[in-house]
Amino acid sequence: MILVVQWNGKGLNQGTVELIGGARQLAGGGDEVAVLVTGPGAREAAAAAGEYGARAYAVEADLDGYAGEAYVATLAAACERIRPRIVLMPSDARGREIGPRLAARLGGAAVTDVVEARRDGDRVIWSRPVFGGKAIADVVLKKEPQVATVRPGSFAAAEKAGAGPAEVEVLPAAGTDRPLRRAEVLAEAEGGVRLEEARVVVSGGRGLGGPEAFKDLEELAGLLGGAVGASLAAVDEGWAPPERQVGQTGKIIAPDLYIAIGISGASQHLAGIAGAKTVVAINKDPEAPIFEVARLGVAMDYRKVLPALIEEVRKLKAG
Ligand SMILES: Cc1cc2nc3c(=O)[nH]c(=O)nc-3n(C[C@H](O)[C@H](O)[C@H](O)COP(=O)(O)OP(=O)(O)OC[C@H]3O[C@@H](n4cnc5c(N)ncnc54)[C@H](O)[C@@H]3O)c2cc1C
Repeated sequence: MILVVQWNGKGLNQGTVELIGGARQLAGGGDEVAVLVTGPGAREAAAAAGEYGARAYAVEADLDGYAGEAYVATLAAACERIRPRIVLMPSDARGREIGPRLAARLGGAAVTDVVEARRDGDRVIWSRPVFGGKAIADVVLKKEPQVATVRPGSFAAAEKAGAGPAEVEVLPAAGTDRPLRRAEVLAEAEGGVRLEEARVVVSGGRGLGGPEAFKDLEELAGLLGGAVGASLAAVDEGWAPPERQVGQTGKIIAPDLYIAIGISGASQHLAGIAGAKTVVAINKDPEAPIFEVARLGVAMDYRKVLPALIEEVRKLKAG
């Protein structure tokens, strides 16, 4: 059995459909694939996994109010029941926290930040970036279950299997005797398109010079049906909330189009967009490293470019 985990019950995520695709690839027809969704709405979201031919499990309790311990305890109990050989989960902040702890709890092994995986006989070879994305390490885990956190865009999405919704087995949330509770949420996720799932991301850096320009970025992202991202420098300045940060210590994303405005392209920032299909950069310094990864670049003050770009996109949409 290969188990795919999704953290929220707001429908079946695109990321989960990719992980189901990855699970199928690793199963090679041998293993069954199952999806476990946690959180309110989990049952409906899990049922949709049936359309991709996967079995479905749900934990409907809201585990978010607690520290990671509740997730670890609940997933460990679920894995005792489901007995997966491999567990795949997103490589977001929660996955990177929970994955290794779950593996340790189950006596298995973990690998984080996977960007590719393939079968080699009975083994799975997991590939993950190291040294800030400058090299790729191939990893073989010697214990099971193998728990892997996977970056978005690493696997092709699963095809629908022509089946209807799955019958969902509802599993209980496991209690925890460690009374850790989240005391305060410092930044609330905003509405709109989720950064991790957006096909278009318009990102701003220190070069924007202040918070006002982020409103223009919001406008452009809105017109393109995308989300706004930011560099660490812009977050540190307080111009964008921390959940918008893209990069090694922020979100790892793989949009079709990444527009970097006033971002120099430090390796730690680029580590977050290695999976982006097309990078467009606006930066007044023609020597900025962002141009090395950009397919299209404008070496100009963004103040001259951005209003015209917004205007042009608006016209295209209207016409
Ligand atoms: C351990 C570690 C982890 C890190 N993790 C991250 C991370 O996750 N994400 C991240 O982003 N960074 C991260 N960093 C920080 C990273 O090294 C850079 O400092 C940061 O990315 C710089 O942000 P920036 O490009 O916005 O700012 P700068 O490097 O200051 O670049 C600003 C750019 O804007 C351009 N510019 C200025 N004015 C204009 C204008 N009017 N029009 C057009 N262009 C203009 C400049 O030419 C310059 O290239 C990390 C660093 C460390 C040490």
